[in-house]
Amino acid sequence: MMLKSYSKRVFRAECNPQFASLHCIASLDQDVSEALPYLNAVLGGFEYLKDPPAVMFRSRGRLITVHGREIAINALQGEEEADKILEWLRREINQAWEKRAEITPSTEGAPKPQLLEILKLLPRTNCRECGEATCMVFAARAAEGVKGAADCPPLPADAGKRLADYLGRFHLDG
Ligand code: SF4
Repeated sequence: MMLKSYSKRVFRAECNPQFASLHCIASLDQDVSEALPYLNAVLGGFEYLKDPPAVMFRSRGRLITVHGREIAINALQGEEEADKILEWLRREINQAWEKRAEITPSTEGAPKPQLLEILKLLPRTNCRECGEATCMVFAARAAEGVKGAADCPPLPADAGKRLADYLGRFHLDG
């Protein structure tokens, strides 16, 4: 087993203590750097940094970064959620390492959705019904996996399906 234990710290962002969501930093007792290209290959990180190695994932609006000795997670609702994600990552890291002989390691980030491609599919009226200031801001949030077709109320069903199909190609919520 590569990753056996860690200690975590859950806190509110100092820049905005009023902000509802929490951050979590887990300090890993073992160095998992060597497992990161295998983890990236299995889970499809959207960004991979080579030196020092780190892989980033998005899941339901949260940003998760796995470094050799640390895991950072933002936009959490509570400590229980942090525990679930950390235990899931521990399993995934250990499985990827144990099965590394069967996995082709990857140090590349997954392809990213193009902002203009998303924007082309939106009504582009800047009506703000989605809660964003403009359709461009909505497109940026959609590219991050935070917003989807269902979050734009005036979007016609056919355009919504095209947008969902386009975003679905990038496994943003994997
Ligand atoms: S609800 Fe749709 S059309 Fe209105 S601003 Fe948001 S993305 Fe644009």
